[in-house]
Amino acid sequence: MRKLVVLGSTGSIGTQTLEVVTEQGDLEVFGLVAGSRVELLEKQIRQYKPKFACMWTKEAADDLKARIGDMDVTVLHGMDGIIELVTKEGYDVLVTAIVGMIGIRPTIAAINCGKTIALANKETLVTAGHIIMPLAKEKNVPILPVDSEHSAIFQSLNGEPKDRIKKIILTCSGGPFRGKKTEDLVNIGPADALKHPNWDMGRKITIDSASLVNKGLEVMEARWLFDVDIDHVQVVVHPQSILHSGVEFVDGALIGQMGVPDMKLPILYALYYPDRRPMNAKKLDLFEVGQMTFEKPDTDTFRGLALATKAGKVGGSLPTVFNAANERAVKLFLEEKISFLGIYELIEECMDKHSLIANPSLDDILETEAAVYRYIDSKF
Ligand code: NDP
Repeated sequence: MRKLVVLGSTGSIGTQTLEVVTEQGDLEVFGLVAGSRVELLEKQIRQYKPKFACMWTKEAADDLKARIGDMDVTVLHGMDGIIELVTKEGYDVLVTAIVGMIGIRPTIAAINCGKTIALANKETLVTAGHIIMPLAKEKNVPILPVDSEHSAIFQSLNGEPKDRIKKIILTCSGGPFRGKKTEDLVNIGPADALKHPNWDMGRKITIDSASLVNKGLEVMEARWLFDVDIDHVQVVVHPQSILHSGVEFVDGALIGQMGVPDMKLPILYALYYPDRRPMNAKKLDLFEVGQMTFEKPDTDTFRGLALATKAGKVGGSLPTVFNAANERAVKLFLEEKISFLGIYELIEECMDKHSLIANPSLDDILETEAAVYRYIDSKF
C-alpha cells in the first residue's frame, strides 16, 4: 500500500488528491501539511487519520492540537516541521501541492531521502530545476508531474529517448481574456480574472492562467522535467482544453493525451505510475466535443508568456525573479493595489533591475526571492 504525505492538503490539488485516496481505497495518508485552514485540516485528519500533521504557524498548530487532542497525531509547525515530516521514514510519495517557492526546501529534503515526488508545485522547478533534476537523477528518485499539461507530455513520451523528441506541444486554454487586446485589459478586476473558462483551481494559479504567466511557468517547468531547450517547447492555444499537451517526434508523429478537464486524472496517474487505474469520472465524448481548434498565443497582449520565455532562456536567477515578482504582483492585484496590466509591469521592472547570478545556489535563490519581495514591499 502506497503511503503519502500531502504538502498543501487544504488547497485545490490537495483536496482532489485526498478525493482520489477516498475513491481508490488502497492508499494511506501518512502526513498532511497546510498553511492556515485549521478547520479543514482537522476534518481531513479525522477522515484520513495520518500520523503527522503540520501547520505553517505555531498558533495554527496549537489550535489544531487542541481540536484533535482525542487523536494520536503528532502536530508540527513551520518549515522545520515540514522538513521533519517529509524526511521521515514510513511513507513513499510526497505530493507537493503547496503554492509558491516554499516548496523548494521540502522537495529537496524528500529527494535526499529517496521519496518519489508527485509534483504539482511548478514554482519549485522553475526556480530550482537546475538543483532538483540532477539531484533526483543522482538519488534515482522519480519526479512525476501532476500538472495536467506535463502529465500529458509524460504520458505521450512514454519512455521514448530524448533524441527522438522534435518538440513539446504545450496547450493553453487562453484563459478568460483570450482574444482581448491590451486596451481591453485596462480595467480588469480580480473578479473577472478569477473566472477560468475550463478549470476550477486555486486563486493564484487562476490569475496566472488569465495573464498567461502560468503558461510561462509551465514552459520553464517542461524545460526541466523533459530536459529540452525552451525553444523546443511550443505553446499552442486550444480553448476547449481537450488535448492536454503532447510531443512531436522526429518522424513527424504527434502524440498527445486527451480527456475532459479534470485534475484527478493526472493526480491518479502520478500516484499509481506506471499503472493506469480505473477512474469513475466523466469520459471524453468526441461527438460532444465536435470541434477542436488551435491558435498562436498573443504574446504582445499577454506579456506574461513573453517575459517567462525571456527569463527561461537567460536562466540563472532570472526565473526566480520572474516568479517572485509575479507572486507578489498577484497578491497586490487581488488586494486591488495594482491593475491587471500592472502585474506585467512589476515583473518586467524587477527583471530589468536584477543582477544575474548564472548558477544560483539554494541560498542565492532564496535570497533573490527575498530581495524581490523587499523591493516590491518598499514600493507599496
Ligand atoms: P491552493 O491555493 O488552492 O492551495 C495551496 C495549498 O498550499 C493550501 O493547502 C495552502 O494551505 C498551502 N500553503 C500555502 N502556504 C503554505 C505554507 N506557508 N505552509 C504550508 N502550507 C501552505 O493552490 P493550488 O492547489 O491551486 O496549487 C498548488 C500548486 O499546484 C501550485 O504550485 C500550482 O501552480 C500547482 N498546480 C495547480 C493546479 C490546479 O488545478 N489547482 C494545476 C496544476 C498545477 P491553506 O489553504 O491551509 O493556507
